[in-house]
Amino acid sequence: MCYRRVTTISYVCGHVVPVSASTVDCGLTNCRYSANHPAPSTHNCVSTCSQWYG
Ligand SMILES: [Zn+2]
Ligand SMILES: [Zn+2]
Repeated sequence: MCYRRVTTISYVCGHVVPVSASTVDCGLTNCRYSANHPAPSTHNCVSTCSQWYG
């Protein structure tokens, strides 16, 4: 499963500021967020693929 990796800086005042964010690709063809996932028009994406954000 793909996931988002967010790097944050926490300040003593309680503020947490994200400094960078990247998506880690799982490489699966049945994962909607992977670069290896085929175009949604070529298959029944909703019933066959994992999709959990966006
Ligand atoms: Zn994935
Ligand atoms: Zn799909």
